[in-house]
Amino acid sequence: MTKQKEIDKAVQNLNKMITFAGVNVCRRKQLLRYFDEDHPGDCSSCDICSGQTELTDVSTDARKLLSAVVRTGERFGCLHVIDVVRGSQNAKIIKFGHDCLKTYGIGKDKSQKYWRALVDELIGQGCVIQDRDKFTLY
Ligand SMILES: [Zn+2]
Repeated sequence: MTKQKEIDKAVQNLNKMITFAGVNVCRRKQLLRYFDEDHPGDCSSCDICSGQTELTDVSTDARKLLSAVVRTGERFGCLHVIDVVRGSQNAKIIKFGHDCLKTYGIGKDKSQKYWRALVDELIGQGCVIQDRDKFTLY
């Protein structure tokens, strides 16, 4: 395995680990996904499947976030995308003209931490893939 591939794999695994704790997906499924295996259907016995954990509907916010990912060309990191959604005026946003995007500032009512958790959620559900420095829809 080349050095680059090793790094890529490590980043991939790290991302999977980060997402393991906080998502609305069957724990067994998540765990097996971490080991690159698939579980058919839900296990019906973990805290998620048995309903012990309350699920929240974040689809509207997820749409806002994914829209920002697309509008920034799927090549920026999650912090940048979150900055766009939150309407940050940092130099990078201005430089790329991202303050002119439709999604700019549409999520400023929520905290940076909230958006970060949502990103983890979306990664956990396989909606987005996070490379070291950019984001891709999946
Ligand atoms: Zn389960």
